[in-house]
Amino acid sequence: MAARRSPLLIHKLEGHSSEIHSALIIPREEGIITAGADKTVRVWLKRENNQYWPSICHSASSPCTALAYFHEHRRLFVGLANGLVVLFELSEDLNRMERKMLTAAHQARIDDITFCPLNEWILSVSRDKTFQWHCSQTAKRLGTLRTSGWCTKVVFDSESQLAFVAEYSGQIYVLKLEAGGKLSEVNTLKAHTGSVQTMCWDNERKRLMSGGYDQTIFIWDIAGGKGQTFELNGHFSKINSLFYSHVSRKLISACDDKQLGIWDLSIDRDETCIWEDKMNCQICEKPFILNFKGMFVRKEMGRRQHHCRKCGKAICEVCSAHSTRLPTMGYEKSVRVCNECMREISQEADMKPLAVFFDIGVAINKIDIDIQSGIMIGASSDRVLRVWDIKGFVM
Ligand SMILES: [Zn+2]
Ligand SMILES: [Zn+2]
Repeated sequence: MAARRSPLLIHKLEGHSSEIHSALIIPREEGIITAGADKTVRVWLKRENNQYWPSICHSASSPCTALAYFHEHRRLFVGLANGLVVLFELSEDLNRMERKMLTAAHQARIDDITFCPLNEWILSVSRDKTFQWHCSQTAKRLGTLRTSGWCTKVVFDSESQLAFVAEYSGQIYVLKLEAGGKLSEVNTLKAHTGSVQTMCWDNERKRLMSGGYDQTIFIWDIAGGKGQTFELNGHFSKINSLFYSHVSRKLISACDDKQLGIWDLSIDRDETCIWEDKMNCQICEKPFILNFKGMFVRKEMGRRQHHCRKCGKAICEVCSAHSTRLPTMGYEKSVRVCNECMREISQEADMKPLAVFFDIGVAINKIDIDIQSGIMIGASSDRVLRVWDIKGFVM
C-alpha cells in the first residue's frame, strides 16, 4: 500500500471555553494534556471506542499558559498567568492529579517552562522580563537573568548545560548553567527581526532551531563553534510552533498562514550570505539613493539598494530583474537574485524543493508529535484541539 502523503484529521477535542495555550502528548499512553486561558488543565485519554474522553479537569487560580511534563515520574509543571509554577503528580491510571509544590517564580505571565530531570531544574521565562532557574524539589531559586524585553521561550541542553532564552525583540540569549547556581551569559544570537515564538533542539547535531513573527526559521549550529546560521523561508505569516524529528531529521513548522511545513534537514543547506552595504550598485555602478556625492557627479537620481539572496551583493532594481526559489539556501518561496547569479542557476538541480507544505485549514499555536504512534496534536485559538494522523510522511 502506498504511503499517504498528507495529514489526516482524526479527532477534534472540545471542552475548553477559551484559547488553548499549550498542549502535549503523554507518550505511549495515548493521552493528551491541555492548558487554557479558561484557567483549566485537562487530561484526555483514548478509550476503547477510539475516542478521547476527558479524564481530569483541574481549575487553577489563573489562566494556564505553559506546560512541561516528565512521564517517568508523571510529573506535570503548569505555568500560570500570575507567575506561579505548580507541580502536579499524575496517578498511574492518569485519572487523578495531586498538587505537590508551588513556586512563586515570576511577577507576570509565564510563557514557557522546561524541566531537566537530571539536575532537578525547572527553567521558566515570563513577560516580567526574566528567566528563572529553580530547584524542582525544594522550589529554591538558583539563578535569574534580567532581559530587555518579554521572554517568550526557553530550551535547555542537559549535556552542554546551555539554556537558550528567546525574547520578544527577536534576540536569543545563550546561557551556561552550572551546579551550585552559577549562571553566565555565553553569547546572544541575533538574526530575527521580530519576536521569537518557538524554538526546538537537535540533540544529535547540537543545533537550535527558532521561528517567529518575521516568517523565518533560523538554524543555529551551536556545536560547530563557527557561528554558522542557516535560514528557512517558505511561510507567509508568523511561525508559531516547531517540532524536530530526530528519527527522520525532519523539521515540522506550524504557522498563522494555516500551512504545515515539513523541512528535510537531512540535506545540508548553504549558509545564509551576508548582505553588503555599498554606495553604488555592484554590477552597473550607478549610485544608490543617499549617495549624494555620486548622484551630483553623475548628474542622475540615485537608485534603491536591493540585495541578491544568493551572493549578498548590493544591487539596483535593473540589475536584479529576477526572482526565483533557492531551496538549497532555504528559500522555498521566490526571492530577489542578481542578473549574474540568475545566469548560473541550473533550473533542475537548484530548484528541486526541499520542503513540502500542507494546507491544514487552521492557524495552529502549538504542535506536539508522538513519533512512535504517528500522531500530531495542534492547539489553536478557536478552543479546539485537533489530532492528525501523520504516519507515512513525517516519520
Ligand atoms: Zn545596477
Ligand atoms: Zn548575486
